[in-house]
Amino acid sequence: MRLHYLEAMGIDVWAPRTSTSWAYAAGDADATDHSITEAVSATSAPATDNWDLLQAEVAACRKCVLCETRTQTVFGSGNKQADWLLIGEAPGQNEDQQGQPFVGSAGQLLTEMLRAIGLAREDIFIANIVKCRPPGNRDPKADEVAACHDYLQRQRALIKPKIILALGRIAAQTLLKTDAPLAKLRGNVHTLEGTPVVVIYHPAYLLRTLIDKRKAWMDLQLALKTYKNFEG
Ligand code: URA
Ligand code: SF4
Repeated sequence: MRLHYLEAMGIDVWAPRTSTSWAYAAGDADATDHSITEAVSATSAPATDNWDLLQAEVAACRKCVLCETRTQTVFGSGNKQADWLLIGEAPGQNEDQQGQPFVGSAGQLLTEMLRAIGLAREDIFIANIVKCRPPGNRDPKADEVAACHDYLQRQRALIKPKIILALGRIAAQTLLKTDAPLAKLRGNVHTLEGTPVVVIYHPAYLLRTLIDKRKAWMDLQLALKTYKNFEG
């Protein structure tokens, strides 16, 4: 399978493309044959950490060059006690302007995808790998990802999600510390310090391609099934 992820992250990726709705085939769930892979990370939150402190730290952060071009940081939004933690790549133009993640057209599709499995945006928490918009929506660079990663680790430690959904290649590769292509990462259940991680297509990618919607629906079914298995 050839992925067009990089093109999908190109210049006008956040612009509304079509009015295509999130059509899905409920009979498609086929998530029986997945292996468990491990990704271990050594970082843990300081004992004194708390949400407000972390949020203030991010808002003032100047640890990488993205601080020079951002309008504001995008910390994340949703329920900080959520069972579901969704992780995207980086703020786009709308997110940079509004200070909230996934508020553009990719965000609208994401909201529909969540609704398809019975979740509202208020039920989940969503954050990005990097908290500041890369200029022109370029991919975040390795040093920027590294500089920012501690914030996400601390968000994760405070939220204590029961499942993590990695949206797209960059989120998946960063969280799972791997160079494997998205095609290899989706369809399996990974774990991050004991929490199951399911990799799904980035909604910005789905906006640009119709053919993968069936697979995207299968990803969501795998996520739901994994959540139900690990719950309790
Ligand atoms: N794409 C992302 O990865 N994150 C956002 O917040 C918006 C679009
Ligand atoms: Fe700080 Fe992360 Fe923004 Fe870089 S991207 S300035 S590390 S908050």
